[in-house]
Amino acid sequence: MADASLVMDMPLKHFDLVFRNGTIVDGTGNSRFGGDLGIRNGRLEAVGDVGAAQAASEFDLKGKIVSPGFIDVHTHDDQLLFVSPEMSPKVSQGVTTVLTGLCGISLAPLISNSVPPPLNLLDAGGAYRFGSFHEFMAALETHPSAVNVLPFVGHCTLRVATMDDVRRPARPDEIHRMQKMVGEAMAAGAGGVSTGLAYRPAANSTTDEVIEICRPMAGTGGVYLTHLRDEGGRILDSLDEAMRIGQAVGAKVVISHLKVIGTANHGRSAEILSWFDRSGKCHPMAYDCYPYHATSTILVADRATESSRVMITWSEPHPEFAGWDLSQAAEKLRLPVEAAVERLQPAGAVYFALAEEDVVNILRHEGGMIGSDGLPHDKAPHPRLWGTFPRVLGHYCREQKLFPLETAVRKMTGLAADCYRIKERGLLKPGFWADLVVFDEQTVADSATYDNPIQAARGIDLVVVNGEIVWRDGCPSGRRPGRLLRRSSFQPPVTGGCL
Ligand SMILES: [Zn+2]
Repeated sequence: MADASLVMDMPLKHFDLVFRNGTIVDGTGNSRFGGDLGIRNGRLEAVGDVGAAQAASEFDLKGKIVSPGFIDVHTHDDQLLFVSPEMSPKVSQGVTTVLTGLCGISLAPLISNSVPPPLNLLDAGGAYRFGSFHEFMAALETHPSAVNVLPFVGHCTLRVATMDDVRRPARPDEIHRMQKMVGEAMAAGAGGVSTGLAYRPAANSTTDEVIEICRPMAGTGGVYLTHLRDEGGRILDSLDEAMRIGQAVGAKVVISHLKVIGTANHGRSAEILSWFDRSGKCHPMAYDCYPYHATSTILVADRATESSRVMITWSEPHPEFAGWDLSQAAEKLRLPVEAAVERLQPAGAVYFALAEEDVVNILRHEGGMIGSDGLPHDKAPHPRLWGTFPRVLGHYCREQKLFPLETAVRKMTGLAADCYRIKERGLLKPGFWADLVVFDEQTVADSATYDNPIQAARGIDLVVVNGEIVWRDGCPSGRRPGRLLRRSSFQPPVTGGCL
């Protein structure tokens, strides 16, 4: 008979949180596998089999997918992080990390009570209150939200902060001041610089101005992101310009919300994607996109004429027209459409201006990451704000079968973390931060529509950020475990050729 005192029990592992019997889609693009996850101190300690381990909380994930939390690589959440730190439009979709400051629009560095479009998309009332990027970063750090955030500095904001009249090219002294601001933002840990060259505050900047302003990014590993100068007839010239800027400063280039706008350009996605395939061999290039055939931004007459239908998302003088078609609002105001556009200013709109065939091609291409481009302060926002990620999983992956689930998840997680060198996130891997989402592959779907845009998605069961539950069974938990992410310090040099 064995002496009980001689039986050496292995100590049981103890986790904060254990998920058992899940189907793991790990963000690498590799095939799914069954297993458990063990989380301690905010990180994944075990991926595969936790055995008889004990945990403070346990969940049985039988029949569910567990994947890394989604990285929304294109947001305008800069101010939302402060005013709605539970971040419901994002965590309800499984998003655990957001990039901010895009399309040239960042909250810092700028102190102003009255900002021109498109800066007002970030909620004009008192939002612009940070005199330096460092102050903005410090505020994010002391006011954490439910999600992680990697901020970028925007060129439109720099111009508004520096120039008395943004409708002209910047003078050398102004360029010098903007350069210093970019240097300060990079030193504070910004991910890079974004431009919105289609927008009025930046439309008169020259390519050389942008290159000079971006110079402080050289050698820092910062990324150059751009909302192209022209997403319609001159898109190829605009893509060439983006690459020229990236090559001149030695920065990776990411094209924001890649699309081709206007009826005359429908069907050009194949041409655009082959430009990407060619150029990607010369210089590091990537893009993000959203899964809808309507765009959304401020209300402008030119864009309205290129669209089959325009819906008003907000109007300061006429809030009652939010959600209305522009043609109906014009009728009600007894004005021609162009005059109605003027009367409604400042305002925002949804534009039905893309071809579904192009949306599909751009989504399907292996280089495409997913970014919502959601506008969280619009009264009747484009449904992408609440629906982007579940729409890719439900409509485009399960129903339209554009790609396997493993590829869809990769586009939303590992691919984005690689592109922006976001350390220890984007994969379910031991040692990585525990950012994850549990969803039902059969039911996950976007609920937000153009007519009813503020709707949490279906099929997202549980969302965890840095080891803490932020969304469960349709409700935010109120926890704010999100962290400020700074640009990764180690970066290989960006080398290019071909031009
Ligand atoms: Zn944009």
